[in-house]
Parts: sequence; C-alpha cells; structure tokens
Amino acid sequence: MAAMETRRVRPELRDFEPYVAGRSIDEIKAKYNLHSVIKMASNENPLGTSPVVQKVIRDNVPLAFRYAQAGNPLLRSALAGYLGVVDAECLVCGNGSDEIIDLLIRVLARPGKDNIVAFDPCFSIYKVQAKLCGVEFRQVALDDNFHFPWDALLAKADERTKIIFVTNPDNPSGYAVPVTDLVDLASRIPEDALLVVDEAYIDFADPLEEYSMLPVFRKMTNVVLLRTFSKLFGLAGLRLGYGIMPPWLADYLMRSRLPFSVNILAEKAGIAAVQDEIFIAKTRETVLRGRRDLTQGMQAAGCTVYPSQANFLLVRPPMDPAIICERLLRKGIIIRGLGSYGLDAFFRVSVGNEEENRIFLGAITEVLNG
Ligand SMILES: *Cc1c(COP(=O)(O)O)cnc(C)c1O
Repeated sequence: MAAMETRRVRPELRDFEPYVAGRSIDEIKAKYNLHSVIKMASNENPLGTSPVVQKVIRDNVPLAFRYAQAGNPLLRSALAGYLGVVDAECLVCGNGSDEIIDLLIRVLARPGKDNIVAFDPCFSIYKVQAKLCGVEFRQVALDDNFHFPWDALLAKADERTKIIFVTNPDNPSGYAVPVTDLVDLASRIPEDALLVVDEAYIDFADPLEEYSMLPVFRKMTNVVLLRTFSKLFGLAGLRLGYGIMPPWLADYLMRSRLPFSVNILAEKAGIAAVQDEIFIAKTRETVLRGRRDLTQGMQAAGCTVYPSQANFLLVRPPMDPAIICERLLRKGIIIRGLGSYGLDAFFRVSVGNEEENRIFLGAITEVLNG
C-alpha cells in the first residue's frame, strides 16, 4: 500500500530523510530517567535568552492576535542600524536563515536546468532545499584537515551554476578563511553565479575584522551573506535569520516570500536583541573563553581538537565517538555525533557556560580513562 501511494510523490523526494537535529533535553531526561540534562549539541547560546529580550517578548504577548507588519520594516531598519554598513533595502528577514536559503534557491535556480555547488560535508539544509526544488546539487570534498579546496570548487561550477555556498566559519569543523580569500573567490566564479557566504557563526571569529565579509559587502556585486539570531542572539527557538544581498535580489525575495513567516514576537525580540550590547559582549566573551578551556581540557584527555572560530569544537577522540556519546548521555550530557555528516570518527561539542564546560570535561575525562 505504502509503496503504491509513494508513486504520488515527486521522485526526487522519495529518498528524503528528516533533518537530523541534536537530541532534545526532554527526550534524554525521559529516556535515562535524569533530573538535569546539559545540552551541548546544537550550538545554541550558552547564556540562554537575554533577560532584556525575554522582557520584550513577555510585554508583547498581548499582540499575538495581530499580524506582523508586512515586510518587517522596523526590524530591517533596526538591523541596518546595528550592522552599520548596509541599507535596509539589502536586508531580507526570514523564519531562521533556513528560510533565506530556501528562498535564494527558489528565486535563482531553475529546476532540472541549473545547479548549486557546495563543499562536502556541508550544512544539510543547502542540499535538502536544492533537492526539494529539483535543482542539481554538486559537492566538492573538503581537504583532509577540513580546509577549503578553492580550485576544486571552481572546477565544479559552470555557466549553469546559480549559487556557490561557503560556510564561514564552517560547520561542523569551525574552520574559517580570511575575508581576502572570499573576495578572491568571488572574482573567479562564473558570471551568473552568486557566492552565498553563510556567516551563522561569524560573531565568534577572533579577530572579527579578519573574517567577516560585511565591511566589504558594498564593493561586491555577486555576494550574499547569511546571518542568524539563533546563535549569538540566543533566539534559536523563536526562528529569525536574515540575508544581506544586493537590493535587486532582496526585492525579488521580498516579492516571493510568504508574507508573515517572521512572527510578531520574533520581530520585537530581534529589534531588542540587536540593541542589547551587554548580552552580545558577554556571549562573545563566554564563547571565546569556553572554547579555549574546552580545547585545553580535551587535548589533555587525549583528543585531537580542531582549531575553531565558532561556538563549537570538532573533536577526534581516541575512542569510538558513538560509545562516548552514549556514556555521556547516561551522565546527562548531550553532544553531537557526526554520523549524519559522514564523519564517524568525530564528535562536535558546543561551547557551554563555565559550569557546563567544567562538568563536560570531568565527564569525558572519566569516560576516556575507562
Ligand atoms: C545554525 C546554522 C544556521 C542558522 O539556521 P537558522 O535557521 O537561522 O536557525 C545557518 N547555517 C549554518 C551553517 C548553521 O549551522
């Protein structure tokens, strides 16, 4: 029966698997009968949701019956003010940057004709949305140490390539390239292609000036930047992200998007979050310090830890990561195995707050020492 009904579904969707997310706290509490669980699996903000933003969300709850203002003009101008170097007409907000990825593909790439190029492994949403749109998705293997082989990437692109995705800093490695590399890449891609640089983790790069493309954005004609409120701003569950792009492209995305995908509480929260300088600074400080402490602690426990410019670390432990993940779960700690990325020998751990990092390091040291 199921097989027969499957014939109704578009063939390109038949092998789809649901997105593999980090395990949730409630799921693990129930399964292992635990009172408290630490989640270091989904690169969320280790400080939680800013108290200032929480108050704004609470204060706006009575507005939940209203539609948000179409096109989110207040949020876009608050963002333009925060970013400082781009106009509001270059900004498109979405239900997470996932929505912007989806819109870019649907606005730019013709099903069955055009193609999209990215590295392998890469953020799974690029691939899933391309396939859903019936657009060919070409991938180029990363170098052994997770660095970017630019020439191989360019060799895959042709006159039918509409988008080249690069994640900087990269997920799941944390590796980042300097902005000069990306400016050079943009000058070498085919004429009809756009370079989409996913800067979901850019705020954790150190020093920021060396890595962010934002300061040079105005000089580029074929570059789109993706940003999110899910990491630095601690609003992953509210779903808010945005793209920075040439005005002509922003205009097409605004015309084709669903009008109310950014909900009214996300909009108010976003406006408050970009003005919350204390929380932003504290988050950055916590992540940079935690990244250093976790790196040293795991190295001392015998792990290979890859240099990271993000709020997580890619780790190659001296033991099967599946066993480590399972033993940590029993102790109430969730990290991310990377089987879904094809990286069976590695795990990824998000930087937690000071206490979480200490508990995690104690637990993994115990697991690795038998
Ligand atoms: C987390 C993440 C995002 C953000 O996605 P949202 O939809 O904004 O939550 C985007 N790109 C990458 C590579 C990420 O890891």
